[in-house]
Amino acid sequence: MHQWAPSKSSRQTPIRRTTIDEAARQLRRFFGTMPIDEIAECTGIYLKRDSGPSATGGFAHFLRHRDDENIVRYVPVIMINTQHRTEHGEPVGEREIFFHEFYHLLHSSVENDFLLSGEESLITLRAMHAQEERRAQDFAARMLIDEIRAGETAREIAWRCDVSTRLAEHACRAASAHDNVTRDWRAILT
Ligand SMILES: [Zn+2]
Repeated sequence: MHQWAPSKSSRQTPIRRTTIDEAARQLRRFFGTMPIDEIAECTGIYLKRDSGPSATGGFAHFLRHRDDENIVRYVPVIMINTQHRTEHGEPVGEREIFFHEFYHLLHSSVENDFLLSGEESLITLRAMHAQEERRAQDFAARMLIDEIRAGETAREIAWRCDVSTRLAEHACRAASAHDNVTRDWRAILT
């Protein structure tokens, strides 16, 4: 199994922004344009697709599994909601959902797993974990948006990189929030 295979024991949280950047840089180099089903296969992720309420993109968690030799293992699972749309009704591609959830597998806390799978307290816990959500979006943006060109609108980025306008807007906001970010952004993608 590849070194990037998410495992329950290797997860770290909180994580620094520079670590997200570094992880994304290495993963981009390794995965390139590999289809998500192949990425899941080579990292040991059980990838499932289902259709659910459009507001939910998907979720990630570790499934407790007892094997034939009675050894407990935690299998990383990513569920993709094929009906996911942004609040503006724009469909969100599977690859975008996948990398968002991939971040959660790599770095989000156990509580986050719970919130992502537990319907009841979803809204409250989501607010508490807003930071992790932002970071998951940062990660997805870094994986899918190769660069932010001067003068380019979010719509143009979305079209060029085949991502939702929401993710492109997130990337633009992140870019303008940090000094020298265009340079940084390019630096990590070379
Ligand atoms: Zn999330």
